[in-house]
Amino acid sequence: KKMSSVPDGKKLVRSPSGLRMVPENGAFNSPFALDEPQWVPDKECPRCMQCDAKFDFLTRKHHCRRCGKCFCDKCCSRKVSLPRMCFVDPVRQCAECSLVSQKEMEFYDKQLKVLMNGGTFLVSLGTLGKLETMVCRLSNNHRYLFLDGESHFEVELSRISSIQMLTEGFTPGEKDIHTYTSLLESQYISEGGNSRAAGMMLQYKSVGSQELQQLRVEVADDKKTASMWLAAMHKAAKLLYESRDQ
Ligand SMILES: [Zn+2]
Ligand SMILES: [Zn+2]
Repeated sequence: KKMSSVPDGKKLVRSPSGLRMVPENGAFNSPFALDEPQWVPDKECPRCMQCDAKFDFLTRKHHCRRCGKCFCDKCCSRKVSLPRMCFVDPVRQCAECSLVSQKEMEFYDKQLKVLMNGGTFLVSLGTLGKLETMVCRLSNNHRYLFLDGESHFEVELSRISSIQMLTEGFTPGEKDIHTYTSLLESQYISEGGNSRAAGMMLQYKSVGSQELQQLRVEVADDKKTASMWLAAMHKAAKLLYESRDQ
């Protein structure tokens, strides 16, 4: 039996950390999702991993839902939303993790909406360099970038191998590209400084092909919306990297 509040294609699962709402088919997981951590076993932590308080009958042990480490109540008292692990309610987290999760809420509250609303770009596919004006947006399930103009095509986020941001004042080219992010290749992700994003270059594999395709988008007339969209995409790239790296 299904609870009426559960959307189609989703199911509720109860984990030791709390109630989660996940896609019925695991292949439909959000590309930003994180797995639940393994909890540090009770025998391996006689003391709080933050303040070193010894656990006993009065000082009880709690596991941070994000990192799985053991803490006393004082060091692990905050309950914060953790949409990347699909928890329905806010969950207990240590100080460090609750900060990270709070920062991610901005992505979920604002930037994800910006991505789904879309922006208008000049798009070029492959190396042909033919430009087409297209609206680029993230699908509601977060798994695809949809590009719509005279033609339509889509890129699955899980098939993107690198994302580079192009910044204002630089002609896209070998040396002028400011690489914010190179998924799967580098751990280092720079913040890109104060320069405004003017475009983005993606490398991806289309379904059924191992060959890398290239897609470039450049800010068109509505610069404000497009720059916000690119900034949100930059944040999304970081989350995507973390999700793959776990
Ligand atoms: Zn403590
Ligand atoms: Zn933690």
